[in-house]
Amino acid sequence: MNDAGAIIRSPLLGFCGGSLDRAAAFRSDQAWIAARRAEPTAKLVRLNGDKTRLAGNALYFETPVGDDAIFLGLDPEGHAIFAGESLAPIEEALDLRSLAIEGHLAAYDLATLAHARSLLHWHQRHRFCANCGHETEMKDGGYRRHCPRCAAEHFPRTDPVIIIIVRAGEEILMGRQASWSTGRYSALAGFMEPGETIEEAARREVLEEAGIRVGAMSYVASQPWPYPSSLMIGLIGEAINRDIVIDKTELEDARWFSRIEVAQMLDGRHPGALSVPPPMAIAHKILEAALI
Ligand SMILES: [Zn+2]
Repeated sequence: MNDAGAIIRSPLLGFCGGSLDRAAAFRSDQAWIAARRAEPTAKLVRLNGDKTRLAGNALYFETPVGDDAIFLGLDPEGHAIFAGESLAPIEEALDLRSLAIEGHLAAYDLATLAHARSLLHWHQRHRFCANCGHETEMKDGGYRRHCPRCAAEHFPRTDPVIIIIVRAGEEILMGRQASWSTGRYSALAGFMEPGETIEEAARREVLEEAGIRVGAMSYVASQPWPYPSSLMIGLIGEAINRDIVIDKTELEDARWFSRIEVAQMLDGRHPGALSVPPPMAIAHKILEAALI
């Protein structure tokens, strides 16, 4: 448990390490969900977009749980955890990205928030049937929406994104977008498209954005990314050519970095003040893996 005032620094990537039992075998039973809502130990975490308030260094829970709340799962003590959207701004709310960077929350609490944020966002955007336009109904505690007119079933989506560090011998390719903070470089990334394998999507993105063809590649890790519901799939690839051709609509710059420079950027001591994403982000973990 969290001691008030203690800072818990997680070795995990941000938003990973969820501890809830999603109770997939039970949540389709509406009576079971109703009984969980009515339990005095049931708890509700409320978000306004990607913001929520904390109770010290733990989640701030509300009770009782309303009928429109989404069931997230059972915590390790067996208590039901629900999520609800606040239409009004929440006082003293903090955004998920800041919470992940600051590391004050336990990894499992941060994972619960990301889980809640992605599901709540999906419900907001899928109130009407994509097939016939009729209003849909929440089912399975919130893990499904059903159309009573055409019987279409709609399930929460997860959007896969490949994110890749490309190596050429002792050098490492990174790029930067114009909107990023000054000096920030990171792995190349992009959404997978229908009909692609992970490897095909990664090769396409790197070729499109930087003109580099990628041969062999390996998987490093994945990370839920609740903006609003991506799954980052982290890879390391080996370059076939070295001449960079930047797609200026995607990237402001892309270049090869030496291993020494990358190590300096990971440690926050690059002499030119260049930087990479913080340890909560998967790009940081892939870079560390690429240096091994
Ligand atoms: Zn329909």
